[in-house]
Formats: sequence, structure tokens, C-alpha cells
Amino acid sequence: MPEKPKKKSELGRCERCDKIVVLTKFTLCYECRQDEKAEVDRAMLYLKMNRGASLNMVAEATGVDPQLVLRLIRGGRVEVSKKKGEGPRK
Ligand SMILES: [Zn+2]
Repeated sequence: MPEKPKKKSELGRCERCDKIVVLTKFTLCYECRQDEKAEVDRAMLYLKMNRGASLNMVAEATGVDPQLVLRLIRGGRVEVSKKKGEGPRK
């Protein structure tokens, strides 16, 4: 029996604007992805210039959703001050 093919197009709602979208690996519609990308860039830039900034500082200064910043951090895209000092060197 052929198994159910990998779901390729499933409809869902954009996490941000609630628009109905085809969910691929994204959970955002195209527009929100563009928005988010701009925000990500902003947050990353801010972090680059303000090393050691905390999550809230970034969010406040850039107007970027803290949740988004958090996701970037978790995904390893950016680093905020945690206590990581110079980084582990061996
Ligand atoms: Zn959207």
C-alpha cells in the first residue's frame, strides 16, 4: 500500500497575520516572511553593534518581537549576552 505521501501542501494560518496559507516549512505567509526577515536583519544588526544586549533591549530598541528574537537565539542565529564571555576556547 502506498503510504500517505508526504504532505506537501497543507493549509494553515499564518502565525502572524492569520491569513490562510499553504504551509510548507514556513508557518508564515510570504509577506510576513519578508517582514520578519527585515526584523531579523534589524535585530542582528543591533546585536552586532551592541554586544551583550539582552533580549529585551534588542526587542525594545528595534521594535522586533521578543519571541522572534528568542527564536533566532534558540536557532543559533544570534547570540545575546548570557554569560558566555569570550566563548569557550580549548
Ligand atoms: Zn502573514
